[in-house]
Amino acid sequence: MRNGYAIDMNTQTVIATATYMLPELRYDFGDLAPVVSAQTMELHHGTHHAGYVKMANELSEKLEALGADEDPSALERSLSFNLGAHKLHSLLWTSMCPSGSAASTSLATEINRCFGSLDALCSRLSNTVGKLAGSGWGVLSWEPVGRRLQVSQLHDHQNDHLIDTTPLLVIDGWEHAYYLQYHADRAGWAKSFFEVADWQSASIRFQSALD
Ligand code: MN
Repeated sequence: MRNGYAIDMNTQTVIATATYMLPELRYDFGDLAPVVSAQTMELHHGTHHAGYVKMANELSEKLEALGADEDPSALERSLSFNLGAHKLHSLLWTSMCPSGSAASTSLATEINRCFGSLDALCSRLSNTVGKLAGSGWGVLSWEPVGRRLQVSQLHDHQNDHLIDTTPLLVIDGWEHAYYLQYHADRAGWAKSFFEVADWQSASIRFQSALD
């Protein structure tokens, strides 16, 4: 298992490795309540996300150690799942903030152009999460070829991903994200999400995607 650094054999200096790390939250576990309870946050971040990070690191190491003629298929598939989970959860924590935040003028303009209004976009995103077959995510992303915002479902943590898009705001539709509070009402969770949606962070990602 990597521990976050290695020794460069030429210079004998310590260098960072590409170890995946559980990001720290910018707020306390209870700060998103009542939309997301402290208990849900603690389990989601400290158990589920931490587990995906651990697996992504272990799988990366196994892939590196694999012989050139051994079959990497199962390891690659599992890495896609766990690394996808790590990236999506890292985005989720910055898709929410206490009390929510407002979109920049340029993102708000693009939302109006593509969906008519912010309310219409939120309804579309809630609906796409509510309609997920099995576990997955609702994603608002920037689609650079058509140059438009796109709402899409992403199954598990990696399937049906729109390649080359930049995710701006993500909603976790896995049961562990809402079941303690919302029980079977996944669409209800996806509606409440917008009370804490961090549109300011989404705006920063949008601007980076355009630059
Ligand atoms: Mn999750």
